[in-house]
Amino acid sequence: MGEPSVILRGREGVGTDALLASTVHGAGRVMSRTQAAGRIANRMECSARDCAFWVSMGAFRDARERAGRTQNDRFTCCPDHPDGRMVKRRGRVRDGAIDFAAVRATLAGGGIELRGGAADEAPAAYKRLDHVLAAHADTIEVLHRLTPIGVAMAPADTVDPFKD
Ligand SMILES: [Zn+2]
Repeated sequence: MGEPSVILRGREGVGTDALLASTVHGAGRVMSRTQAAGRIANRMECSARDCAFWVSMGAFRDARERAGRTQNDRFTCCPDHPDGRMVKRRGRVRDGAIDFAAVRATLAGGGIELRGGAADEAPAAYKRLDHVLAAHADTIEVLHRLTPIGVAMAPADTVDPFKD
């Protein structure tokens, strides 16, 4: 995302046989998609208007059990709304390492237009291309180096059944 790309050709080198005459085809990740973007999952949220309190499903079950309440009892563990109730919703349960607003600002500042995309594809989630190319220098020949002017990717809310 917003990083340079290269078009390369494989070549005979010291490591060619060990690599089965193949070579690198991408920089590779330095962190998982979840580490980069965080995790969205079911969680229990306080239903009071504008209350930001939430707990994980497991924490809610534990609190309800400790309080001796059954699954069908109205129960809340929100400290600010003891008469309220909790509702199950999908939401962020873990923050990611990537500040995607900062990534957007950096790309825009560099004159690169970003359409779609999400934190899990941010540049910091990947190895630096030049380091990877240097590590494989013996088995590749760089034919062209491409500098992006725009990036178009599926946005974060697109369901991808083939996502790795
Ligand atoms: Zn609340």
